[in-house]
Amino acid sequence: MKKTIKDYQYEGKRVIVRCDFNVPIKDDKITDDTRILESLKTINYLIEKDAKIILLSHLGKINSKDDMKKNTLYPVYLKLKELLSTNIYFCDQTRGRKLEEMVSNLKNREIVLVENTRYEDYPDKLESNCDKQLSKYWASLGDIFINDAYATSHRKHASNVGIASILPNAIGFLIEKEVMALNGIIEENTHPFVILMGGKKISDKTLVIDNLIQKCDKILLGGGMCFTFLKAKNINVGTSIVDDENMSYCKRLLDQYSQKIVLPVDIVLKNKQIKDINNLSKDDIGCDIGPETIKIFEKELVLAKRVIVNGPMGIFEEPPFDKGTAEIYKILKENNIKTLVGGGDSVASINLLGYKNSFYHISTGGGATLEYLSGKPMPGIEIIDEKE
Ligand code: ADP
Ligand code: MG
Repeated sequence: MKKTIKDYQYEGKRVIVRCDFNVPIKDDKITDDTRILESLKTINYLIEKDAKIILLSHLGKINSKDDMKKNTLYPVYLKLKELLSTNIYFCDQTRGRKLEEMVSNLKNREIVLVENTRYEDYPDKLESNCDKQLSKYWASLGDIFINDAYATSHRKHASNVGIASILPNAIGFLIEKEVMALNGIIEENTHPFVILMGGKKISDKTLVIDNLIQKCDKILLGGGMCFTFLKAKNINVGTSIVDDENMSYCKRLLDQYSQKIVLPVDIVLKNKQIKDINNLSKDDIGCDIGPETIKIFEKELVLAKRVIVNGPMGIFEEPPFDKGTAEIYKILKENNIKTLVGGGDSVASINLLGYKNSFYHISTGGGATLEYLSGKPMPGIEIIDEKE
């Protein structure tokens, strides 16, 4: 078990918190503040415990001076000011006298938000390469380090792994919640365990499939990725999206796990016609799973004790091709199936289709969650001390 935020005393201590404030911003306005809202539990806990709080986060990628202008955390500062009932200051530098003075002037329960950690990526990629000097410098500003940036925990950067390797450390509430939910569903020994995979590209998902196919009883495939599997079975998929480079991968998987893999039997086409999978012609483009497929998937899902969903069943952004994805969510919800949803677009589809609070866990980590599901180590979590 990793140390958690509850394992330290904070009164008068300088606490560095690595948050994930990597939010979408358009014309200086935050368009989705979910990640900021999710960070409040950890921040408010530290305020209550009389800490002096230093917040670090990245925002976007910084490869030029222009990127710096576009990716300032100032809008996040304004939002935090609105949400928190304490003094919060913004430091427009990532190091230097000004930052040091702001930190040493902090009173208990006050906060300084430091400018985008990736400003240190221009020009030398110091943050992203986990530069030792930079890590040491940031660590010198605090007494304790809390990592709560779940969506960045698959990266080994100065602002997470670098600082954690120097200071006493722990995970915050957000990482704790994510890891408990993910571990909970993967390690629980209940069956049937069903995986529902969709989305666009197989290439993004092969490692997830490789890891989960061994553990699960059934893997139901929809979305764009099913067409490469269907083509690997010599089915004509018309001009549907196919990833020829992964054809032999699909063939191998179909040979090895023929009992576990369930593929669509009918498809909704771009022209909205529904066709049996064996009747596609060369110009047909598959955009969603069809009604017969939904019935077959339903049979497996209602029996399941736990389900992981990664990837939408169709082009959910363009109705009516959202129907397959929506029907599947409806089945999972109405039958109260223990379901974890992960993946950036999958979470977007959950929100868009109105299933935000319907499931066991919606994992907000995007790429981080995919790496977790692949069974890969997460450097930002691994580096945290174990409980004694
Ligand atoms: P996630 O981010 O949840 O891991 P992906 O990024 O793999 O999911 O895939 C999401 C995208 O897949 C969506 O934008 C969706 O439009 C697309 N998609 C789903 N079904 C199809 C299809 N049949 N053809 C092309 N694209 C599809
Ligand atoms: Mg995606």
